[in-house]
Amino acid sequence: MVREDLEARGIRDRRVLEAMRATPRHLFVPVLVSPGAYDDRPWPIGHGATISQPYVVALMTELLRPEPKQRVLEIGTGSGYQAAILSQLAAHVYTIELEPELARSAAERLMRLGYNNVEVRQGDGYKGWPEAAPFDGIMITAAPPEVPQTLLDQLAKGGRLVAPVGVGLDQELVLVEKSLQGKITRAGKGPVLFVPLRPEKQK
Ligand code: SAH
Repeated sequence: MVREDLEARGIRDRRVLEAMRATPRHLFVPVLVSPGAYDDRPWPIGHGATISQPYVVALMTELLRPEPKQRVLEIGTGSGYQAAILSQLAAHVYTIELEPELARSAAERLMRLGYNNVEVRQGDGYKGWPEAAPFDGIMITAAPPEVPQTLLDQLAKGGRLVAPVGVGLDQELVLVEKSLQGKITRAGKGPVLFVPLRPEKQK
């Protein structure tokens, strides 16, 4: 997987490649599809969620450029796979999942596999995690129509945010950088396809 689907397609960051090599992806997908866990494709994981294909996980991680002393926020925990990758590259990972059952099973899985620097919260990603802000990096793994302002506000100066942005099939991977002066710049990184970032269910 690492050689054929990541290195061959241009992923260069040694730390990202090493984390992808070290992470047992077959333990993050449903048992029935585990024989295909290392294929370069996404898999449904229930509740309308999907674990992204390895190439997209690696690409987004490379763009985020997490560093060993940094704290990062992920929106859309899903299986916990992306959080596990980030946890090997940053000091601490905060991750938020809307769907209670996914939040619970991902937290349990991450703990069981020893990813001890990941905190999972069930809640609405649009709100971010204000008590732990600001974050050096923020990764959104479901598509909002626009990058939520709350999350931009929770990004540290000098920080990076990576997200699929758009509606329906019209989505683009976006890298947002906040300069040390607080100036926001934004660059498109190609088409992607993610499940939508859903507004929290009304009670
Ligand atoms: N990163 C995951 C895949 C995420 S799929 C992995 O590595 O497996 C997108 C996830 O975003 C789904 O689990 C979905 O339930 C969640 N989601 C959708 N809207 C959300 C919201 N508003 N807040 C938090 N999570 C949300």
